[in-house]
Amino acid sequence: MSNRLYLDANATTPPFPEVREAVLQVLGEEWGNPSSLHTEGRKARARLEAAREEVAALLGVAASQLIFTSGGTEAINTFLKGWVLSQTSLPVRIFRTRGEHPAVENTLEFLASRGWAEISFLPTDRYGRVMVEELREFLIRTSIPYQPTLLSVIAAHNETGTLQPVREIAEIAHSLGMVLFLDAVQWVGKVPLHLSHSGADGAAISAHKFGGPKGVGALWVRPGVITQGLLHGGPQERRRRGGTENLPGIVGMGVAARIVARELPQWSEEWKAAASLLEQEEAQSEGGFTLLRVPPPRLPQTFLFRIGDWPADVILARLDLEGVAVSFGSACSSGVARTSQVLLRLGFSTADAQRLLRISFPPRFNPKVIREFLQIVHRLEQEPVHEGALC
Ligand code: PLP
Repeated sequence: MSNRLYLDANATTPPFPEVREAVLQVLGEEWGNPSSLHTEGRKARARLEAAREEVAALLGVAASQLIFTSGGTEAINTFLKGWVLSQTSLPVRIFRTRGEHPAVENTLEFLASRGWAEISFLPTDRYGRVMVEELREFLIRTSIPYQPTLLSVIAAHNETGTLQPVREIAEIAHSLGMVLFLDAVQWVGKVPLHLSHSGADGAAISAHKFGGPKGVGALWVRPGVITQGLLHGGPQERRRRGGTENLPGIVGMGVAARIVARELPQWSEEWKAAASLLEQEEAQSEGGFTLLRVPPPRLPQTFLFRIGDWPADVILARLDLEGVAVSFGSACSSGVARTSQVLLRLGFSTADAQRLLRISFPPRFNPKVIREFLQIVHRLEQEPVHEGALC
């Protein structure tokens, strides 16, 4: 694996060596139950709370406002279902973008199927960005007075890299008495985020997207926003999530958060240098390697590209054989060669959606490896187009 070129950080990031070390140390030495009162338990509790402080510091929130979860999906489910179930009058109204991740989309579909929520789409452009100029008018026209209303917005898009104008959306939502929830899973570790200042009322994050372990994430809820917990059991996580905590994972997440806080400015420079190599290449390529220009603001390490008319699944397989990992669609549909449903829903043509692939640079990235990637792309450009297996 070591010689491979991993360009799929939005699916997952390789855990930092410091994270691996901390996880192993907790598994080997500090395996106590954080709820126990003896020395082992107290040591474990101290590690748990130290990790919460690290994550909270990265997000600009108080540690008491965070609960640890099993990842982004659980944090999203907890906020959305918990908020709906804490309302006295149902159904609620939920506005979402067309580009939501399946973790949000399928949670909302479930709530709608029970008759607990009415779901509508926010006005967005073809890259999934909420059109704030139209938002106030749109919400006034389409919402129902006194109906509890929530906006669920993917803060940083996993496929297009679009960043939302979070502050503007929050201002409009609050002026109309609405709540704003952010799926911030792809934002953290790529662009600085200060949740307390963002105006949002809740946000989900996931450790494996920023160098932490898989299967651990966190939910932030602004004080005063009422959401019920989903996992009933012991009093862990301030009675909002029962169950003994995943201490190795949480400690690993804390270490990753500390590394992000320290190193993000350096990574941003590395990503900028790598991006400029891609752009130079495109300028010289004659219709072969093409980047999709997603307007800023966007993630600095996420790019959509195509190679001539090659189907995306064929390129993915060819690059994989050459030792390069890229992707298309969201990671949840991996193993299944499918056109990106999200791009289609955003309004991309079928031809584009079938040809676009994504590269997403990981942290601690050496921009020079992009030259190797481009050499491989050159070789592919010379080959005749093969038919893909797209459905
Ligand atoms: N939201 C977005 C935007 C994502 O990209 C992902 C993961 O791909 C998730 C939510 C789900 O996070 P997790 O894998 O931690 O459940």
